[in-house]
Amino acid sequence: MVSEVIKESKKIVIKIGSNTLSNEDGTINHEFLKELCHQVSQLTQEGKQVAIVTSGARIAGIGQINRWSRREDMNYKQALCAIGQVELMSAYGRHFHDYGLHVGQLLLTREDFFDKTRTLNIRNTLFTLVDEGVIPIINENDTVSVEEIKIGDNDTLAALSASLWNADLLILLSDIDGIYNKNPKEHRDAQLLEIVENIDDMINSIEIGETNSFGTGGITTKIEAARIVNRYGIPMILANGKKENIILNLLNNEYPATIFKDFQ
Ligand code: ADP
Repeated sequence: MVSEVIKESKKIVIKIGSNTLSNEDGTINHEFLKELCHQVSQLTQEGKQVAIVTSGARIAGIGQINRWSRREDMNYKQALCAIGQVELMSAYGRHFHDYGLHVGQLLLTREDFFDKTRTLNIRNTLFTLVDEGVIPIINENDTVSVEEIKIGDNDTLAALSASLWNADLLILLSDIDGIYNKNPKEHRDAQLLEIVENIDDMINSIEIGETNSFGTGGITTKIEAARIVNRYGIPMILANGKKENIILNLLNNEYPATIFKDFQ
C-alpha cells in the first residue's frame, strides 16, 4: 500500500522533524541531509515534484553560536531561529547543489494560510519554483510568530502546505516507524499500526506518550496533520527518517510505516 501510494503520487511534501535532522548532541546531521537530498533528486528524476517542510532552525542556531541553548525567553528563542535558519538553508543549499538542484526558502505564518491574497501568493511561488525544478523549503517564520499566533509545530505547517499546494501525498519523517498502540520509546512490546482508515477509532485505541528532547509536536500533531490532509483526500505516511534511504526503501517495500487514509 505505502509503496503504491508513493509510486502514484506526483506532488509530494516531505516534512523533516527536529529529531531526524539532528544528531544526539544537537548538531545538524549532515549525513542524513546528504542522503535526503539524494533521495529527493531520485524522486525528481522519476518525474515527481517535491516540497520540503523542515524543522531544526533553533538547533542549528545553538550549534552555530553555542550560546542561549537553555534560555526560554521568547526573544532569545526567536534570535536562535533567526541565526539557525541561515545555517539550515545553507546546509540544504550545499547538499542539493551536489545533485544539481536549487532550493528556494518560504517562511510562513498561520495568518498566511487564512488570507486569500497571501494564499494565492504562496501558491504562485510554490508552483513556479516547482515547475522550474527548484525545491521549495518551507519553515515557520519564527521572527513574527509569537506564541499566541504560532502554528507551533511543523506537522501542522506541512499539512497546511500540502493542502494549499494540492499535493498528492504528505510524508512525515520522524524517529519512529509510525504510530504504535503505545509509545515505542517506553514499551518494547508496542505494535505498529500500518494503516489508519478511521482516525477517531485509532485515537480511542492507542496510548499517547511523551515526545523526546528536540521534538515539539509529538504524536498528537502528527495525527492532526493526517486529519487535515485526509479531509482533502491526500494520504499521509508517517515513517522513520533515521532509517537508511527511507523514502526509496518505502518505495521498494523494505521498511514498515503508517499510512493514514481516512477518506470517509
Ligand atoms: P519529530 O521531532 O520527529 O516531529 P516528536 O518527537 O515531536 O517528532 O514526536 C515523535 C515521538 O512521539 C516519538 O519519538 C515517540 O517517542 C512519541 N510517541 C508517543 N506516543 C506514541 C505512539 N503511540 N506511537 C508513536 N510514537 C509515540
